[in-house]
Amino acid sequence: MSMLFNPKTATFDHLDAPSREIMRQTIDFFEAKGKARLKEDDHERRWYTDFLDFLKDKQILATLLTPPELAAGNPHARWDTCRNCAFNEILGFYSLAHWYAWQVTILGLGPIWMSGNRGIQEDTARRLREGGVFGFGLSEKAHGADLYASEMMLTPMGDGQYRADGGKYYIGNGNVAALLSVFGKNSETDAYVWFAVDTRQPGYECLQNVVNSQMYVSEFALQGYPLSEAQILSTGQAAWDAALNTVNVGKYNLGWASIGIATHAFHEAVTHAAHRNLYGKYVTDFPHIRQLFADAYARLAAMRLFALRASDYQRTASMEDRRYLLYNPLVKMKVTTEGEHVINHLWDIIAARGFEKDTYFEAAARDIRALPKLEGTVHVNMALVVKFMANYLFNPADFPVIGRETAPRHDAFLFAQGPTRGLGRIQFHDYRLAYDSLDLPNLAVFKAQIEALKAMLLAAPPTKEQSQDIGLLLSLGELFTLVAYGQLIIENARLLAVDDHLLNRIFDVMVRDFSRFALQIYSHPGSSPAQMDHCLKMLRKPAADPEGFQAVWEGHILPLVDGYAMNP
Ligand SMILES: Cc1cc2nc3c(=O)[nH]c(=O)nc-3n(C[C@H](O)[C@H](O)[C@H](O)COP(=O)(O)OP(=O)(O)OC[C@H]3O[C@@H](n4cnc5c(N)ncnc54)[C@H](O)[C@@H]3O)c2cc1C
Repeated sequence: MSMLFNPKTATFDHLDAPSREIMRQTIDFFEAKGKARLKEDDHERRWYTDFLDFLKDKQILATLLTPPELAAGNPHARWDTCRNCAFNEILGFYSLAHWYAWQVTILGLGPIWMSGNRGIQEDTARRLREGGVFGFGLSEKAHGADLYASEMMLTPMGDGQYRADGGKYYIGNGNVAALLSVFGKNSETDAYVWFAVDTRQPGYECLQNVVNSQMYVSEFALQGYPLSEAQILSTGQAAWDAALNTVNVGKYNLGWASIGIATHAFHEAVTHAAHRNLYGKYVTDFPHIRQLFADAYARLAAMRLFALRASDYQRTASMEDRRYLLYNPLVKMKVTTEGEHVINHLWDIIAARGFEKDTYFEAAARDIRALPKLEGTVHVNMALVVKFMANYLFNPADFPVIGRETAPRHDAFLFAQGPTRGLGRIQFHDYRLAYDSLDLPNLAVFKAQIEALKAMLLAAPPTKEQSQDIGLLLSLGELFTLVAYGQLIIENARLLAVDDHLLNRIFDVMVRDFSRFALQIYSHPGSSPAQMDHCLKMLRKPAADPEGFQAVWEGHILPLVDGYAMNP
């Protein structure tokens, strides 16, 4: 049975009835629109008023994104990561541009729901009910990832009044947002501050869409924009924490966008290849094509297993259990780069067809590239992830076992994550519990690779000088990432009763990836002879498993042929 989402057969059994209805309505919206019109709007870069009207009409954003205490009688309103995953996947599946309006709304709401400003929270909940979308004004043109350098200034004018001056760049929904959360500094004290800006007020100017796309990624300017204490969301350390804590939550969604895109592309590619006959053979009969499909499928199934499992840890997080701070950046960074691999494999299969304007694939090939680069690049997230490596590998702690977290409830902790310090002190449950829970040939090879990595870290760890070499650390981070990635995949494979053939194939891919990153360290100019020796021990070949390969081909991949095509 296929592990991939199919809008025509998905039942969303793990959700409650009102949530299932939201997912079904959203699928119906896109299927009723049809592929031709969806593609035409994309090509013509048409702003999606119809989609925003649909969201308003069905009260979807108000239901999915309002905390219950602000929901004004809507009994289904809550921030429920489990159902938001499903919604994310659907939007990614149909259109990244549409997903983006939802995503930046999530980001914009972060500093608001995290603030202690009840007045603006009630105003925001009302604007959500009125169908508003929101936005997150963090980035500036000149400063990229360097938030310390923000130049947006809030100047006190006395009597609790302020004026805001400065520019922001790459800000989604800046053309229409009901409110934008904007990050800046107090011009007198230099303290960080978040404040809410109404895009219809004088003093706000939307200058341009900086991308040539249907989604609106604005450059905007505030010139003497007037505001009072009532619009201040947070200041000082709380403002800094709100910036990072919002991104902790938001970045998780990028993995789901990638999963949605790669899934739709997979359906399209496998159906195309299975019907294309060359030299009297179907394309899906070529052994190298089967290998590409098998790798693409294994990567995609792994992406989904990992992201779903990370949701469980996000939903059970607390001040005492901050493991999500490793898993969420991995969803952002690893899952999205895996999405690029999936599209690359599929494009090698369907070749010229992937350029044609009537395909979903043509948009997927463009859009899949975006996700590793947004909300912190892969590099920035990897720099974050390596902080967890020592405790994860060498200093585990006891935690209660967490099962699937699908219950319909509000994930309140996401808006009370507390200080962002102390990442290096966070502990994790022992990864070996998962790895030792199953016995599969490629799992055994992978475990030997992990042991070789640990041996290197113990006997020849990066020197002080090497720790300045970000290139070397990035490759090391890739190896560590694979260990944590594999752990959650195994945990979820057991929870979801994934068959052994597929799991063994997933680890076939992971063994090869581990070898590739080990070779990167080996070949890096800065690695030492001792480290190079250890790397050679990590270079391993997967265990051959032709029967397992065939079982995945027949049981998982072939049934997808003709399984889904978007309504024309
Ligand atoms: C389509 C789109 C939509 C966006 N939407 C929004 C939005 O709604 N709101 C918003 O606030 N922003 C938004 N952004 C901005 C986005 O979050 C940034 O582009 C992203 O964080 C990366 O910043 P940058 O591209 O300026 O790269 P830079 O920060 O300029 O980075 C340059 C290079 O340096 C590397 N680098 C930087 N810092 C480090 C580090 N500490 N360690 C290792 N390497 C490092 C990077 O990996 C990169 O290779 C959007 C961007 C795009 C393209």
